[in-house]
Order: sequence, then structure tokens, then C-alpha cells
Amino acid sequence: MRRGICLLLILGLLCIPVKAEGKYVALTFDDGPSGRFTRRLLDGLEQRQVKATFFLCGYRLKDYQGLAERIFQEGHEIGLHGYSHDNMSKMTPAQLEKELQETKKLMPEGCRCTLLRPPGGASSQTLQSITKRENLSVILWSVDPRDWANHDAAVVQASVVERVSDGDIVLLHDMCDCSVDAAFGIIDALQKQGFQFVTVSELARLQGVILEPGRTYSGFSK
Ligand SMILES: [Zn+2]
Repeated sequence: MRRGICLLLILGLLCIPVKAEGKYVALTFDDGPSGRFTRRLLDGLEQRQVKATFFLCGYRLKDYQGLAERIFQEGHEIGLHGYSHDNMSKMTPAQLEKELQETKKLMPEGCRCTLLRPPGGASSQTLQSITKRENLSVILWSVDPRDWANHDAAVVQASVVERVSDGDIVLLHDMCDCSVDAAFGIIDALQKQGFQFVTVSELARLQGVILEPGRTYSGFSK
């Protein structure tokens, strides 16, 4: 009897998520795939042995199926970013379903998307219940260097490096050379400080968080 209780206790402990040692960050890239910017980004990530998370749009996937395939094959995580990139907080349930399903259809074969980043981070009660039903966790961010606004790689890099900490999700865009340059600068600087770059799902796991469908996460800092 007592041995049975001990065994149950051990099994219970094995199931409790525990935060891993080390400093981890997730880089996320929205709005792609984007042709040559994505290609350059993937080359640089591969050179640095870094895995990232790409939130892809359906209307871009239509033109760049091969690139989405490459993102998937190289071990990065892929999440949904809507089909049209319109504001999801204003959509009806039918419109939201269409945005999600049409985008999923264009995803690489075998890609199991469990993450959604609504454009602009704009959510609603309706979106929350649909994501729960569709087994999607909503992923926002904890560090936003506004790369889409300032277009200066050095400024973007400094803004991230100065304030990033363990468990952060960094928002970048797969849209211009300045964001790609900034991403490489951020990785090179933070790797020297002992940070490791992982996908969003991996970051959650390492921080001891179990992602739940329908819930919204901005980061996993303790
Ligand atoms: Zn976007």
C-alpha cells in the first residue's frame, strides 16, 4: 500500500511542469512569408542555429508556399496570423472561422498549428471562444521594438537588448532588411550574454507553463 502511494507521488511530481535552468527568449516574426527577406532570415537563423516562430498570413502563404515549407522543414514553429490581416476583434464568428480555416489549408503538410497571433494583438470574446474550440492559444508579446515604424536596425536591436529578460517573447516583422539585420544583431548580442533562442511553445515548456487553448499569453517571465 505504502509503495503504491510513493509511486503515485513520484508520478505526480514527474507531471508537474518545472522551470528549466538558463535564460530563454522567443523571437517571433509576423506578416510573412515575404520572399527574399524570409530567405535571408532563414539563412541567418540556420547559421546561428536559432529556432524562431513565424506567424504567417494566408494571403502571403498563397504566393510563398515553398518558403512556408522551408520554415517548417528547418524546425521553426508556425502560427496563424489570419488570412487577410484585418482586425479580428471586429469579425463575426463566421468571418473568424473563415480566416482561420482558409489559412490552415495553406499551411505545410504535417504542420500542426496551435498558436494564433491576431493582427495588432486585437482580440474579442468571440475570438477567445473560437480559439478554445479550435485548439489555439493566443500569443501576444512582451517586447515590442516597433521595427515596422522606425526602420532602423541599430535602434531596434538596442531597444530589445536593453530590456529583454528570461521568458520574453519579442515581436518582429518579416517585412524588411532592417528587421532581418536587427534580428541577427539581437541574436549575436544576446547569445554572448548566455541567452538561448527557442520557439514559443518550447519557451512555454521551459518556463514550466502548459499552453491552454483559448488563453492569451504575452510572455513567460517569472
Ligand atoms: Zn501583422
